[in-house]
Amino acid sequence: MSISSITVIGSGTMGNGIAHVCAQFGYQVSLVDISQAALDKALQTIGKNLDRQVQKGSISEEVKQQTLQNISTYTSVRDCAHNSDLVIEAASENFAIKEKIFRELDEICAPHCILASNTSSISITKIAACTKRPDKVIGMHFMNPVPVMKLVEVIRGYATSDATNALVFEVSKALQKIPVEVNDYPGFVANRILMPMINEAIYSLYEGVAGVQEIDTVMKLGMAHPMGPLQLADFIGLDVCLAILRVLHDGFGNPKYAPCPLLVNMVTAGYLGAKSGEGFYKYESGSKELTVSGMFKK
Ligand code: NAD
Repeated sequence: MSISSITVIGSGTMGNGIAHVCAQFGYQVSLVDISQAALDKALQTIGKNLDRQVQKGSISEEVKQQTLQNISTYTSVRDCAHNSDLVIEAASENFAIKEKIFRELDEICAPHCILASNTSSISITKIAACTKRPDKVIGMHFMNPVPVMKLVEVIRGYATSDATNALVFEVSKALQKIPVEVNDYPGFVANRILMPMINEAIYSLYEGVAGVQEIDTVMKLGMAHPMGPLQLADFIGLDVCLAILRVLHDGFGNPKYAPCPLLVNMVTAGYLGAKSGEGFYKYESGSKELTVSGMFKK
């Protein structure tokens, strides 16, 4: 079987990047979101990111135009997913939302269609169990920002077939990514290691060990990380970080994964990081300057 048409569900931080790379490498992409505003913003972001690629000389103006032509937008999966060979779900990190989406997809998609989730931490086996095709359900965990980051963590659920795994490896390579196969346990590999580090950075701030910039500088200069853990948390989205830590905490039943109360408070107050304009830092639109959020100024 070959894959030519891909539906991407959710057009937020990850969905727009996934649609961008799929369209750039020649797939017909249907991008779906329940919010028209999110779709409009996604098309704007994709346009800006393609302009940057043209300016850097990594793609031509023709590739940019073709990429944009390869993307159609929809507010309902029912209007497009029946024609797709592969669906990549990148909706909010919430099991109830994903369960509803996968039940609907299972009903409307062609029998050959592979259903992938970009979930950061929710069990692929649990998502697959909502469908009658668990052999065709798989994790395709892209990294942020998708057009730049090379890794796709490919997660095999309990019933994922070898054929599904092989096709997803093939598509990932066609997108010029490097797929890595992992098994389905909470947080997989990437977030099982990353999130405890981010949580510990937040605990260090919460307990007054050091300030935001000091913590990030120690990790950048001391560990050669390109970005400090608090800035990275802002980019991932503090709500996404909290959701992943809760999955690790519930999945392993180990208190070492308990989310820092400061993270819980920030998410409750709507400080979600770059996407809401403020997290540990403030993000002025159009400015590359980062200022530490008012809450944390010494
Ligand atoms: P986001 O909040 O930026 O975007 C989610 C989008 O999903 C929103 O636009 C929302 O309107 C849409 N949505 C919600 N319910 C929907 C539905 N029923 N149908 C269609 N669209 C719906 O979230 P994000 O950061 O892009 O995360 C998406 C997924 O990717 C999550 O599972 C997350 O864990 C995972 N992920 C995130 C990152 C990251 O760095 N943010 C990295 C890897 C994986």
